[in-house]
Amino acid sequence: MEKLVLENLSYVYGAGTPFEKKAIDDLNLEIEGGQFIGVIGHTGSGKSTLVQHLNGLLKPTSGRILIDGKDIWAEPKKIKEIRHRVGLVFQYPEYQLFEETVYKDIGFGPTNMGLSGAELEHAVLDAVNFVGLDEEILTKSPFELSGGQKRRVAIAGVIAMQPEVLILDEPTAGLDPVGRDEILTHIRDYHRETGATVLLVSHSMEDIARYASRVLVMNHARIECYGTMPEVFAHAERLEEIGLSIPQITQVVLKLRERGFDLPKDIYTVEQAVAEILKRKGKGA
Ligand code: ADP
Repeated sequence: MEKLVLENLSYVYGAGTPFEKKAIDDLNLEIEGGQFIGVIGHTGSGKSTLVQHLNGLLKPTSGRILIDGKDIWAEPKKIKEIRHRVGLVFQYPEYQLFEETVYKDIGFGPTNMGLSGAELEHAVLDAVNFVGLDEEILTKSPFELSGGQKRRVAIAGVIAMQPEVLILDEPTAGLDPVGRDEILTHIRDYHRETGATVLLVSHSMEDIARYASRVLVMNHARIECYGTMPEVFAHAERLEEIGLSIPQITQVVLKLRERGFDLPKDIYTVEQAVAEILKRKGKGA
């Protein structure tokens, strides 16, 4: 994929009813292909509504979504193709497993895309390996699996379609830190190996800082800002005003700088901080 463009995109839930709610309001954005984007914002800011537009699950109330210059709703009958090109992993995706076997569940998307026989098998095996699960699991019922395994199976089901854009809405919600890091590492590997565009919706500025190259901040149905980590964190005060905060390690480094330590401002992960401190160790800094 080359480019994903939002043009004056708005969406209203329950239009014309007393419960009418504008969930996204006139968004304009251009995303170059191959980016890993972290999407953050307070609960109710419109993140889920936005990402459901990108694969055609929701249809804009007004405005357009263009993929490689083409309006995804230009031919509504072809919206299924968009759902294969843009894979969406929902929050708590394990609740959407429904087939008798893991194999069938992971194979559901590729089968819909028209894969069969050896091609289908290949797609399923690749995906199950990708998320770090044993092939033996394929013959089991999804309902026999642990919570963490189910989550991986659900993610594998989307990866098996080899989407050009992979969107994950809070994919690590409810997982322990080890499970969380494993899943995020698989997502990063998918991004590196395929060059796909990835959008990761997350509550954690730390996770976004660690994995994403750009951040999209949503606030009250609008885009607050979109840019690289230094560009976005340069507005730390504004982020705090809207209920977000810069990563803890960045706060620590800024405090150390105030006390005279020679450390760069743009440190967002503990690994970066350790490397910078070690570099200075022995130099009397
Ligand atoms: P986020 O993902 O950032 O938490 P959402 O996109 O889920 O935000 O929600 C944006 C706004 O739209 C919120 O005010 C929410 O209450 C409202 N909303 C979300 N889904 C629905 C729905 N199915 N019906 C009515 N309102 C909804």
